[in-house]
Amino acid sequence: MAFKTLDTNEQLAACKALINGAACDGSSGEMLEVVCPSDGKPFATIPRCTGADVGRAVTAARQAYEAQSWAKLTAAERGRILLGLSNLIAENQDNLAAIESRDTGKPLTQGRADVAAAIRYFEFYGGAADKISGETLPVADGYLAMTLREPHGVVGAVIPWNYPTQIFSRVAGAALAMGNALVIKPAEHACLSVLRVAELAHEAGLPKGILNVVTGFGDEVGAALAHHPGIDFITFTGSPQVGTTIQAAAARNHIGCTLELGGKSPQILFEDADLDKALPTVRNAIIQNGGQTCSAGSRVLVQETIYEEVVERLRNKFRALVAGPHDQDLDIGPLINAAQARRVAAFCERAKNERIPLIAEGTIAPDTPEAGFYTTPKLFGPVPMTSSLAQEEIFGPVLAVIPFKDEEEAIRIANDTPYGLVAGVWTRDGARAIRVARRVRSGQVFINAYGAGGGVELPFGGVKKSGHGREKGFEALREFSVLKTVIINHG
Ligand code: NAP
Ligand code: MG
Repeated sequence: MAFKTLDTNEQLAACKALINGAACDGSSGEMLEVVCPSDGKPFATIPRCTGADVGRAVTAARQAYEAQSWAKLTAAERGRILLGLSNLIAENQDNLAAIESRDTGKPLTQGRADVAAAIRYFEFYGGAADKISGETLPVADGYLAMTLREPHGVVGAVIPWNYPTQIFSRVAGAALAMGNALVIKPAEHACLSVLRVAELAHEAGLPKGILNVVTGFGDEVGAALAHHPGIDFITFTGSPQVGTTIQAAAARNHIGCTLELGGKSPQILFEDADLDKALPTVRNAIIQNGGQTCSAGSRVLVQETIYEEVVERLRNKFRALVAGPHDQDLDIGPLINAAQARRVAAFCERAKNERIPLIAEGTIAPDTPEAGFYTTPKLFGPVPMTSSLAQEEIFGPVLAVIPFKDEEEAIRIANDTPYGLVAGVWTRDGARAIRVARRVRSGQVFINAYGAGGGVELPFGGVKKSGHGREKGFEALREFSVLKTVIINHG
């Protein structure tokens, strides 16, 4: 199959969508080119599916679901198939990592880490499948009341290009463990690893129709899926703008949705922080995946008394950063596409016009292909909270340094954006760490640590414009299920 050559090769590999267990082209017959961000060259094609293909996929999912081919298995049997998939991903780790890196431009080390996370997702949810249950409830004498935790039915999922393997595995692991059928629309800029893992899922024994992958454009295939009356729940990861349209479509169909949107996550450095530990983490949290991470630590709030020292030390770190092709495995790869590179450049240009000082900038490796979508990592500061650098999600390797006076001001600044996804607090004062953690409005808070996206066990999601609902951990099993209350009069 096309995937075997994707990591190495010369000729354009023709990839297929996956509907009802069969690899297929879209009904339009058109193919879209898949471009490697490192050199701007096409290396594969994917079908441009249409609304009609979404319809076929939803019908296949519905039939498979109603036939009980998946939900009728015991939870333990479903879990075993997911564990089998985890093992198959592990056997194919090198190939999958190479595909992911070439498709997204991320350095190979990051590609491997993403596949390791996928292995872990299916391991976790394979093990969790038979460990989630309902409750019995204390009610009036003569009655027995209980809750059953049941699948929604057919789940629709729309996911972005930044971590396709990971985000697919996070969604599919939990949704499938609960017994749902799934129709997923990956981003057209990065869907190859998703197609490959979905193929492996069938090798692992997933019944046909339970997992369908429809490729193509967001405003065509994604919108058709979100609006389809045949889905029972939808989960979306991506931008707040598209998230709004997904939620509106869900409202029209009276179904639930989870939205995992962006962030402008702060790391707060108090004067008593252990800077030797904090600063490498601050740097990594913004350069991981070229800053194209929803939970990127894109603001660092620094107490005035240590501002000069922190800026000096970060300046040296940023100057040493090098961007280059994915297979050179440097600090960062290219951005995903030309539009994203332009978007990041526009933010930096605006910062320049607003006279926000550029403290330091990394470099691009020599002999890097000119047609790739590269940008240098940048450190700006002091950044006023009114500027777009402090307020908007850039989705690039750009860190804003923002000074603060005291704890109260740190909390105010941390909360002063529309987002609330992740925060980091660095201090040796335990009581302060807890006070700040409790007052920061965000879905996750790290104390003396920061793990952009890490930890499959940890419920993850946002507040405010970062979205609602939780992925990961047992919480995701609750999101991908619905409670039925059964009341028995036994006299
Ligand atoms: P995006 O434009 O919102 O795209 C996300 C997905 O939605 C893609 O599959 C896209 O398809 C699809 N889409 C686009 N227009 C659509 C429409 N009208 N109806 C239905 N689906 C549609 O976001 P992106 O630019 O790819 O990703 C960057 C954004 O995602 C950032 O804001 C980032 O913070 C956020 N993000 C959040 C998380 C999280 O977990 N919280 C994780 C990753 C990314 P096409 O791309 O094929 O058009
Ligand atoms: Mg790509």
